[in-house]
Amino acid sequence: MRDITIIGAGQAGLQLGIGLLTHGYRVTLVTDRTAEQIRDGRIMSSQCMFGTALAHEHNLGLNLWDRDCPPVEGISFVVPDGRGGTAISWASRLDAGARSVDQRVKMPAWLAEFERRGGRIELREADVTDLESYARGSDLVIVAAGKGRIAGLFERDAERSTFDRPQRALALTYVTGMTPRDDYSAVAFNLIPGVGEYFTFPALTTTGPCDIMVFEGVPGGPLDCWADVSSTEEHVERSLRILRTHLPWEAERCADVAPTDPNGVLAGRFPPTVRRPVGQLPSGALVLGMADVVVLNDPITGQGSNNASKCAASYLASILEHGEQPFDRAFLQGTFERYWDYAQYVAAWTNAMLGAPPEHALQLLGAAAGDSRIAHRFANGFDDPRDFFHWFMDPDAARVYLDAAAVSAGTAEAVRVGAEAATTVGSGA
Ligand SMILES: Cc1cc2nc3c(=O)[nH]c(=O)nc-3n(C[C@H](O)[C@H](O)[C@H](O)COP(=O)(O)OP(=O)(O)OC[C@H]3O[C@@H](n4cnc5c(N)ncnc54)[C@H](O)[C@@H]3O)c2cc1C
Repeated sequence: MRDITIIGAGQAGLQLGIGLLTHGYRVTLVTDRTAEQIRDGRIMSSQCMFGTALAHEHNLGLNLWDRDCPPVEGISFVVPDGRGGTAISWASRLDAGARSVDQRVKMPAWLAEFERRGGRIELREADVTDLESYARGSDLVIVAAGKGRIAGLFERDAERSTFDRPQRALALTYVTGMTPRDDYSAVAFNLIPGVGEYFTFPALTTTGPCDIMVFEGVPGGPLDCWADVSSTEEHVERSLRILRTHLPWEAERCADVAPTDPNGVLAGRFPPTVRRPVGQLPSGALVLGMADVVVLNDPITGQGSNNASKCAASYLASILEHGEQPFDRAFLQGTFERYWDYAQYVAAWTNAMLGAPPEHALQLLGAAAGDSRIAHRFANGFDDPRDFFHWFMDPDAARVYLDAAAVSAGTAEAVRVGAEAATTVGSGA
């Protein structure tokens, strides 16, 4: 039986650990926090997960909240016109519902599940000395420590990293009492050109169902406004002030909101970073980085937990296929490259969304208001962003797609009007 040690009890580490246990591996999971500390601690994410990632959890019997967690049934998209109205507005259903289970709920339950299925848990903040010891006692050591300090062991990959500084000031506000959307639940995504983004959706937290508000502020702009906030109440009030100023239709939904709990708010920032996947310890032993340790994206597209789940599924497949062969450098590098074959598209799309939207993207998003197939395709791209590279990411492909959509649906006029509205937004007129 092969021994594998995983550092970090997050989405990636726990999902992979439980997957390995299912296939008869001996697994040790090292966590710097107990289940109680995670549950009683601060929120960490908005963790909205789409169909494919949820299916990976389901395959391992880890979908423990299907009954209790409110589903996210669609995506809505709005660009304000700067005069209190909207320049672009549409919504579309997801083919497979999404869900967000607060990691403070999920990880403690998965830790218990990991132990119940025969895994061993060690409590400590692993450092390089600990890694040396784990490397001596295990066939393979995987570092799934997210944004933890130990990720610094893995060298930044300058070629694959687009940015070297944070692109957004981030804030999360978990609330109860938000008025639901009229037709179906959705990630309600609002893009305020030059200022930032706001999106909100239902979720399950430690106190029951809630809604999560996510703020993405362009650094130095009006949504980069959290530094002087010192209490949960102030954080909620700041959130509402932003909505009243920039997105009055979202403020209306928040007339009766209250914070879920004193730890239900978060503010911070980090640079999106790709790292080299193989870390070498002073002894020469090699360890493998995974998920956020190696591909850390800005949350603007809500992909990190999805990526962590897909990375866990990909690494599990690579380990199983490798059988009894040694976990050498070629295996470690190859395992990452197989995941990167997918993750590079998520990173490229996410990084593009952090820039000023190019004209063809705004035209497509505008045309989606007049053609439900475009809206449907955009919404469902969140589950597998590789599709964007066939029609959304490239101006030529976008033109071909728009022309075909207009002709085949006979909605040329709607597409033209939507595209024009988008161009107006893009030019700041
Ligand atoms: C504001 C915000 C909003 C987000 N919204 C979404 C969203 O809507 N959808 C989505 O898919 N993703 C979202 N994400 C991203 C998502 O939360 C992460 O990408 C995901 O949690 C990464 O999983 P992971 O397992 O790699 O790391 P983590 O979840 O960070 O887990 C790492 C674990 O390792 C532990 N650890 C760290 N160092 C050590 C150590 N030395 N020893 C032992 N343990 C250690 C940590 O305490 C933690 O428990 C969001 C992120 C942020 C910041």
